[in-house]
This record gives sequence, structure tokens and C-alpha cells, in this order.
Amino acid sequence: MAYGDDVLRQIHQKTDGRCHLCRRAVRYALYGAYAEPAGWEVDHSNPRARGGTDRKSNLLPACCSCNRTKRASSTRSARKRNGFSRRPKSRGEKTATREKNAVVGGGLGAVAGGLMFGPLGALAGALLGGGIGHDIDPE
Ligand SMILES: [Zn+2]
Repeated sequence: MAYGDDVLRQIHQKTDGRCHLCRRAVRYALYGAYAEPAGWEVDHSNPRARGGTDRKSNLLPACCSCNRTKRASSTRSARKRNGFSRRPKSRGEKTATREKNAVVGGGLGAVAGGLMFGPLGALAGALLGGGIGHDIDPE
């Protein structure tokens, strides 16, 4: 199936440019470049052979070697072979996770700092905890 540039870009961005099975970085410009390590293809998460559709919700970027190895097997088992259960997050999802971690970290820091050092400790704890929470790997 041939995909338009818009659709390809949206598929590539779903995982922030990573193979959804092994998480290797794939380069947008190398779509269909089978011989390139950063080449990629569009994978039908639920394979067409199993009734998967061509709808965007079923399409994810996969490096050529993963896509060819996966064939008609399930996404779940293909990810499991690589030690993952979920697809990589998009850039927007990573940002949202960082913000949530910062809020949780800030809250925990405020409580801990407040218990140990009073109101100023709470403020310092909130800032420190927020910073630590924000820097946690969002994946
Ligand atoms: Zn891969």
C-alpha cells in the first residue's frame, strides 16, 4: 500500500521516530530503505492476514528487520521478544508524562520537606522533587 506524505509523517510521529517493536530510531527520510539500519516500513499492528485494517489507528512505524520478522504474528509477541509491552511514546505523550512526574515529584518533595524543615523546607522540597520528577525518563 502506498501512503501519502502526511499519513507517513503522522505514523512516524506516533512513536517519536522509533520502531514500535524494538525501539530502534528510524529516520523519516529513510522510509522503505530496506538496506539502511534506520530504514523503516509501516507495520499493521493487527496484521492484515488476521483481519487488521488500513486505518491509521492500526498503523505504526517498524524498522525493516522487525517488520519482516514479525510478518503475521501479533504485536504483543513481537514486542515481548524485545522486552517491551507498549509502543514508544510520541513526543507529546513524553511531555505530558514529564509534566505529570514533575507535579507528583513536587508534591512528594513538599510533603517530605515540610515534615522535616517546615514551610521553607516544603518549598525547597517542592522545587527539588519537581525537578527530579521532570527528569525521570518518560518511557
Ligand atoms: Zn525494530
